[in-house]
Amino acid sequence: MATLEKGKLSIHTENILPVIKKWLYSENEIFVRELISNAQDAIEKLRKVSMSEDVFEPEMMDFAVDVRVDTEKGVLEFEDNGIGMTADEVRKYITQIAFSGAEEFAKQYLQGDQAKSDIIGHFGLGFYSSFMVASKVEIESRSYKMDAEPVFWSSDGGEEFEIGPGAKEHRGTIIRLYLQEEFKAEYLDLAKVQGLVRRFCDFLPVKINVNGEQVNRQQPLWTKMPSSLKKEDYNDFYKYMFPFQEDPLFYIHLNVDYPFRLQGILYFPKLAHEMDLNRSEVKLFCKQVFVTDEASEVIPKFLTVLQGVIDLPELPLNVSRSYIQNDPEVKKIASHIVKKVADRLVEEFKKNREEYEKIWPEIAPFVKYGMLSDEKFYEQAQGALLLRRVVDADHEGPSFLTIDEYKDRNKDRAGERVFYASDAKTQGPAIRLLQKQGIDVVLFDTMIDSHFSSQLEMKAGEVRFVRVDAELSEHAVESSSEIVDGDAKSVRERVEELFRKALPDTKITLRVENLKSDEIPAMILLPETMRRMSEMAVLWGQEGG
Ligand code: ADP
Ligand code: MG
Repeated sequence: MATLEKGKLSIHTENILPVIKKWLYSENEIFVRELISNAQDAIEKLRKVSMSEDVFEPEMMDFAVDVRVDTEKGVLEFEDNGIGMTADEVRKYITQIAFSGAEEFAKQYLQGDQAKSDIIGHFGLGFYSSFMVASKVEIESRSYKMDAEPVFWSSDGGEEFEIGPGAKEHRGTIIRLYLQEEFKAEYLDLAKVQGLVRRFCDFLPVKINVNGEQVNRQQPLWTKMPSSLKKEDYNDFYKYMFPFQEDPLFYIHLNVDYPFRLQGILYFPKLAHEMDLNRSEVKLFCKQVFVTDEASEVIPKFLTVLQGVIDLPELPLNVSRSYIQNDPEVKKIASHIVKKVADRLVEEFKKNREEYEKIWPEIAPFVKYGMLSDEKFYEQAQGALLLRRVVDADHEGPSFLTIDEYKDRNKDRAGERVFYASDAKTQGPAIRLLQKQGIDVVLFDTMIDSHFSSQLEMKAGEVRFVRVDAELSEHAVESSSEIVDGDAKSVRERVEELFRKALPDTKITLRVENLKSDEIPAMILLPETMRRMSEMAVLWGQEGG
């Protein structure tokens, strides 16, 4: 081989690698992601330049990334047939890691913001992540430029490197990793490497082969136009991403171009059990490259109980997590997603109320939880909030009412109150008593409902939620003329006597009235405020130990 020129890396901090190793990449396996996304970027760049320039090997347009595991040599290789690099470019882009080559490229070849964002690399020090597992890294590259010579570069990750003429016959780049002894078992294991490639790069638009076999699926549904997709497409994709699950209840395809780019699909899953607030099954991608299962870094927690994918092509995702969480741009993204989800719910409710009502009981916990956790979401989605009306043979009519509809139907009799039951069975007589007076009763019978109703009162202005056995509407009782029996002692006095004897130390307010009910001889009412206070006491008692 011809003589190699020696050089020094132009990094200002001498020991940048240990620092990178320590905090930038907590999981060393992501070098796979970094190298493949560089290869993918290189292919994308070639596609673009080939439209306006002559390229070396123009017939070679069957793009692929080849990952090769060589157990004998202890080497892992990543080869692409993309744009390649000249010696100058290797010097510049690889050895001057302080600035992004992609950005430079964008200035050179492209105008317009739209195209730019496609190729600007977002993985910063990506290439150097290979030194986390390799003791030596070599590059063999051949540029697309017709007159360019192949180039060879080698470095052990220290301050020095070698560069000189190379031997690569075809256009593109090989990144060759001589694995450190301690990583050989892991990264020379074919199945392990295939698994990693699939995990990170399943949806990259270019073929990725590991030892000759394609491992990625290549069909990122979220990048397609929603109008070109059918419900089955969404359901199939869901089952691919989240196997062993029933069809989702509802999905939202996010497709935002401005003020930032974002694509994704969020599914409302069918829940077998209670909603698990600790889970996070929204997967985060950056330009189709898988980044993390912890999308809670960028989207509000209440949305992570959904399932799906979010692709943020412009996010610097390898930067530390606290940075991401505090980034004002990321906050904007989060509130934008919240608004989109709310808008879709309202739109579905308006356009397709019948269907919406069918899924409402199952999506209600998500929506209510979201409204509890996020004021804005409440404001934006309140038009899609439904109350479930208690319906039976004698009280037919709509099964679901919005708060406004409830108010309209009941304002004469219920005033600003919304009567609810927390248990349709035990509160049956009280429910029927109100229904008989033409007052609608709604069901608040899940865990989240009791918190939700008090929140709702604060937000929804004039409504007051009252449990069916908390107070009686004036309409449920006859006018309270005293009933006197043969002894000239009023019923009131006699009942009062009875209760005083039975419960001498209890504060009871007694009302004697004719209930408009044949079922109920007497009712013990617990005013809503008192009931809530005692519920809260129970709650605190539990939390306190
Ligand atoms: P980034 O991808 O964010 O620019 P990297 O450290 O991953 O940062 O890569 C640095 C630069 O090296 C890239 O911008 C690109 O110019 C160049 N490069 C890396 N890998 C390749 C490759 N496979 N083909 C062509 N150029 C590459
Ligand atoms: Mg990169």
